[in-house]
Amino acid sequence: MVHEPTRSGAEHYRCLGVGVGPANLSLASLLHNRPDVTSLFLDRKESFSWHDGQQLPGNTLQVSLFKDLVTLADPRNPFSFLSYLHDNGRLYHFLNAQFDAVPRVEYRNYLAWASRCNKNIVFGEAVKEVTFDGVFTVRTDRRTVTADNVVVGVGSRPWVPGHVRDKMGPTQFHANEYLESARDLGGKRVVVIGGGQSGAEVFLDLINQPGDKLPRRVSWVSRRGNYFPIDDSPFTNDYYMPCYADYFFDLSREARHTFNERNVLSSDGISESTLKEIYQRAYVHRFVENNVDLVGLYPNREVTEVSNGVYGGWQVASRHNDHPESTEVFEADVVIWATGFRPTRMDFLDPIADRLERDGDELRIDEDYAVYWDGPDDRRVFVQNAARGQRGLADPNLSLNAWRSQRIADRLAMVSSNEQLPSFIEWSSKPRAGRTP
Ligand SMILES: Cc1cc2nc3c(=O)[nH]c(=O)nc-3n(C[C@H](O)[C@H](O)[C@H](O)COP(=O)(O)OP(=O)(O)OC[C@H]3O[C@@H](n4cnc5c(N)ncnc54)[C@H](O)[C@@H]3O)c2cc1C
Repeated sequence: MVHEPTRSGAEHYRCLGVGVGPANLSLASLLHNRPDVTSLFLDRKESFSWHDGQQLPGNTLQVSLFKDLVTLADPRNPFSFLSYLHDNGRLYHFLNAQFDAVPRVEYRNYLAWASRCNKNIVFGEAVKEVTFDGVFTVRTDRRTVTADNVVVGVGSRPWVPGHVRDKMGPTQFHANEYLESARDLGGKRVVVIGGGQSGAEVFLDLINQPGDKLPRRVSWVSRRGNYFPIDDSPFTNDYYMPCYADYFFDLSREARHTFNERNVLSSDGISESTLKEIYQRAYVHRFVENNVDLVGLYPNREVTEVSNGVYGGWQVASRHNDHPESTEVFEADVVIWATGFRPTRMDFLDPIADRLERDGDELRIDEDYAVYWDGPDDRRVFVQNAARGQRGLADPNLSLNAWRSQRIADRLAMVSSNEQLPSFIEWSSKPRAGRTP
């Protein structure tokens, strides 16, 4: 770990990263062995994990393996997915396995490998407070360090609606803890809420259970009008290119909001392979094994209330989007919420919060993800995966992870890397410099 001690004796870094998920792990990888940008990345978890409570066997990544920590920004970087395979002697095996998509657990293991190989990363250390007095002073639960810049990558935390928050427990839980909490469900009635990829994976796993582990009934409730697939087609994927992220950044707040609403399925839809498997399992249960009551499919409904059941368990009340006057009630022994994640609070920034500009409920960032503030221009707080409203659907996704980190790394080193050619699509009405419209 390369660092300079300050006069106060505290270690000093050019870059102090808070959180080591894929976002800051990407930046840590790009900054590894860069004596010009000394760095330290801290995570409060004891060791690396990546949605481990939801790593069901057979699940795959929803993006290309090129969208790893570094490749799209710096293909020669030693922290690529290919380097991981090579380092572990499994390059040929991976090739011959001909996966249609990278197994999610293998990607998680790749991320863990990258975190282990990087001496600038420390686990088991939570950042408690960031103050500023010419440099940032970062107080953790173990020590105090100083830094010229702080890069926040604290990700998101599981979200459920307010009306059930005090009812969560062993028989009502978030999909994020599915592996540890979904036990002994054989013969029970389970309601899964949420029509995205997580809901689909949980539902599929439940109806795939063997013999006496199979629930009696599994009902899947979704607000969306149907179980919609992710749009992974070529021109839609152009939304996940740097040039689109920059175009999006310059749009009005209203236009950005409308875009995110309209195109949510380009990131939050269900993989087609998962949908096919669900449909095929439903067919086999109904028509081959004559298990007609197992599968209940209820899209186009909003869960409005969960109350105690008359004979134990839960009553899940929902409103149909096309018939809002009528209420449906599902009896359940177990309720699983697959309702996504919301940004983690950044309470450790409280001492400087009134110096940081806001854009609605986000910190307002510039083109390099630096938060606008009233402090010096060369001392900044950067945020990763906390600007969906300003940067678009790619922000919480892995697609632009490496590129975003490169932007930040460049700003820290005061250089400018070459970027890839823009999309075939002319997003802007303003012709690019040097081109005839
Ligand atoms: C099950 C699942 C599958 C996904 N699959 C895909 C996919 O296939 N493709 C895709 O593009 N996206 C996918 N995503 C979305 C996205 O890739 C992930 O959400 C990703 O983990 C975001 O990375 P992050 O680094 O921003 O945050 P996180 O992974 O949430 O990491 C944040 C880290 O910050 C730490 N932290 C928080 N506060 C502090 C503090 N005060 N001090 C120190 N450390 C702190 C936390 O411990 C955590 O380790 C998936 C999401 C889920 C839930």
